[in-house]
Amino acid sequence: MSLFVEKYGGTSVADAERINAVADNVAKSHQQGHQMVVVLSAMSGETNRLLALADQIHPDADAREVDMLVSTGEQVTIALLAMALHHRGIDARSYTGGQVNILTDNVYGKARIVDIDAQRIRTDLEQNRVVVVAGFQGVDNEGNITTLGRGGSDTTAVALAAALSADECKIYTDVDGVYTCDPRIEPNARRLDKITFEEMLELASSGAKVLQTRSVEFAGKYRVPLRVLSSFAPDQGTLITFEENSSMEQPLISGIAYSKDEAKLTIVGVPDEPGVASKILEPISAAHINIDMIVQNVGDDGTTDFTFTVPRADFETSRNILESIAKSLLAKEVRADINMAKVSVVGVGMRSHAGVATTMFKALAQEGINIILISTSEIKISVVIDDKYLELAIRSLHKAFQLDESGNDITGKKQQ
Ligand code: ADP
Ligand code: ASP
Ligand code: MG
Repeated sequence: MSLFVEKYGGTSVADAERINAVADNVAKSHQQGHQMVVVLSAMSGETNRLLALADQIHPDADAREVDMLVSTGEQVTIALLAMALHHRGIDARSYTGGQVNILTDNVYGKARIVDIDAQRIRTDLEQNRVVVVAGFQGVDNEGNITTLGRGGSDTTAVALAAALSADECKIYTDVDGVYTCDPRIEPNARRLDKITFEEMLELASSGAKVLQTRSVEFAGKYRVPLRVLSSFAPDQGTLITFEENSSMEQPLISGIAYSKDEAKLTIVGVPDEPGVASKILEPISAAHINIDMIVQNVGDDGTTDFTFTVPRADFETSRNILESIAKSLLAKEVRADINMAKVSVVGVGMRSHAGVATTMFKALAQEGINIILISTSEIKISVVIDDKYLELAIRSLHKAFQLDESGNDITGKKQQ
């Protein structure tokens, strides 16, 4: 007997028919004797619908009330799934995040889970109940409902799997695993049987929304066995592994991720002296805005241009902050561009193999694509480009790194 946490995303619970299909899948595992905790998203499109509704009422709605509103999407699906399980003769109970003590900080809209007391779930499981939990939501220490950021149901599932020491956390979605690139953008993308946790973390944080980044972080921290698979045609999917193969067997690049969610801000001509970077970035992070890439160029005249990228949703706020501090920093001007995209190539094979950057930049140059910003980590290279070249950039990189062929192995040996 195993304990599984299974998460079903929006398209997997899009209507009554899909919810019945989920119930059949859950019932099968339960009847095989497994303990089942199911985490659900809202029906696909529902979170967007609710956000648009809020926008019609108030263009800058209070964040607490927005969370109160958007958290309702998940309450609909959990109740319906519990009913569908009852209909199959299975004892099941649905719970909101607060009801199963998913405690978060109080940053509405992007709250972080700080603690889970899984006792209530354990008691239900001992009584042979299926526990159905609303994804994406928690409560702060004053009992206010919070939400975990878009795609946050993945994080609910992995965090619950960690708290319950589950045997596996299965993320059921509308693709049958993790691919070398988003298959909706790159038709030649290939499904991977396995991917290392580190690579998955880099792909997710670079925009591959198949898993929310926080969920991969949780999986890494608590060593949660994690699998991504399709709810439409369940197969073995992709396993996120913690083992590192020997570098000779690693493909050079495992995947490509992209993000259209980029905006660039530059504060031009600030004096080049200690403390300037922190004066610029402090108010941005105080507004809970995640800064991604940072570049600083020092000119001959003793001033510096400071450029960084933020998510598009935070563009206006960031620009306002920069404009409000520009004068006190003696800056010449603030430049801003919202039409940016980021493409990243990821692979642990990079560690032991030089030349990845050269291949990447060459492939982009051949298509006439200008690179605006570059950043690297041990296993990732990211470039920011004009977003109108995004698809072309992805296709040329997928080809340049031979990701469409099963066997882009640096030893020339075919991958299994
Ligand atoms: P869910 O509603 O089930 O959470 P999401 O839309 O959040 O589903 O995530 C699944 C989507 O992630 C896929 O439909 C696919 O378009 C996208 N995606 C992006 N990158 C990848 C990748 N490398 N492999 C698989 N899917 C990816
Ligand atoms: N319903 C939320 C969203 O659309 C959470 C999720 O689906 O994971 O972002
Ligand atoms: Mg998702």
